[in-house]
Amino acid sequence: MAGTMRGCVRTLSILVLLGLGMFPWPNPRCASDEAEAEVTLALIGGWLIDGNTPLPFEDPVILIAGEKIKAVGRLGRVRIPPGVNVIDAQGRFILPGLIDAHAHLEGLGLGEQDAPFTDTPEKLRQVILQNARLNFLSGVTSLRDCGSSELVLKLRDQIEAEGPRLFAAGPQLAKRDAAASSSPLFLEFDGVKEARRKVREQIAKGIDFVKVRLTRQRPLPTLEELSAIVSEAHRAGLRVAAHIDVPYDEAVRLALMAGVDTIEHMAPLRVYDDRLLLEMARRNVIVVPTLYQLQAQRVDPLEKNEEELIEPPLQTRLPPELLHALTQRAALWRRTVLEWRARGYDPKRALREAFRALTRARLLGVKIALGPDTGSDLVPHGRFYKELVLYANMGVPPIEAIQMATRIGAEALGREKELGTIEPGKLADLIIIEGDPLLDPEALRNVVLVIKGGRVIEVPRHEAKSR
Ligand SMILES: [Zn+2]
Repeated sequence: MAGTMRGCVRTLSILVLLGLGMFPWPNPRCASDEAEAEVTLALIGGWLIDGNTPLPFEDPVILIAGEKIKAVGRLGRVRIPPGVNVIDAQGRFILPGLIDAHAHLEGLGLGEQDAPFTDTPEKLRQVILQNARLNFLSGVTSLRDCGSSELVLKLRDQIEAEGPRLFAAGPQLAKRDAAASSSPLFLEFDGVKEARRKVREQIAKGIDFVKVRLTRQRPLPTLEELSAIVSEAHRAGLRVAAHIDVPYDEAVRLALMAGVDTIEHMAPLRVYDDRLLLEMARRNVIVVPTLYQLQAQRVDPLEKNEEELIEPPLQTRLPPELLHALTQRAALWRRTVLEWRARGYDPKRALREAFRALTRARLLGVKIALGPDTGSDLVPHGRFYKELVLYANMGVPPIEAIQMATRIGAEALGREKELGTIEPGKLADLIIIEGDPLLDPEALRNVVLVIKGGRVIEVPRHEAKSR
């Protein structure tokens, strides 16, 4: 009730300000009054979507000093120091760098058929770096790797030199179970002591957050075990993500009671008990629904032909043998889904149900961050915008979907003070895109420039042009 009131007051005040012609431009804001000489780059013109405000601003000026944003204001109202390198975004949109909140750098999108491409450490290393670059060219400036071998941690410097900022979980924690198959990607524990020890070992190896699996394939950890994992991580300043891949109220309840920070995948939004969603909202737990996966595996293979499956610009960036393997993989999924459909399964219904769960959660105040489960089956790297487009198609206002892909993503990382919006004092992670993402969210695939920490990377024009 109070929330609705606040919402009304906010909407009302925005309407009043709009009426007065005052809304879009407050006074120019500066990070500090340090010397102007420090400004290293100015972005001017076009439209700014800053990640905070519910409207785009026309004709902005963004001053960048070194790796940070120094000032944001309106063209003509902010002094651009003479001699500074100026990028003109006339006719284009400036957005915060995108944050992929759920990705796996070691995955190519071929499911178990990744293996021939990744079966030696050298091949795997090349795949990881290639994926990092593909993400970067598509505007992803921060990436949350939700589970990998330790190689990703070891390659951190190279990944960050050629790609996005890396936030990696390394191997995922899982309750030990004699019946479950073991994997180098899982770190098993049994009992509070071992759970704590495993977290400490992971921290020593340089992880950025802890990922723990709560699935039906294994027994759930006890509340004591999971609480120990959370307290050990929090003590080191790290956040905890819980993987829950089937509707499972008991697992969601356990995760909330233990104090995890994010919950991964769609299933946790399909809880039977609404109070769990309210509790997520109250505890500020962020959910990353990884929705696009559903469309990529169950709907697209039926509706798209080979050439349409991976569209430009990614189509031209992928090595031909990988592109070929992806279309073969899609053909395999097509056969599977057709078999399921013959037995009564309706893939569109699955998407509709996901939409219903997503809407219910949003109405109850649950915060959503975006991540397509990049690297998983039929979700190759370099197409993060697909997740965003799906939300927009499901009725989420595009500007809100962009905030989920930027500001809320930064919250999921626990780095909202430095990342996720374009405002003074934050790290200068921005992208420039061609086309209007508010009228057509697909425009997000036309990234022409990526700036990370003040460093400019121009995306080759022939690659950016896609239609
Ligand atoms: Zn995942």
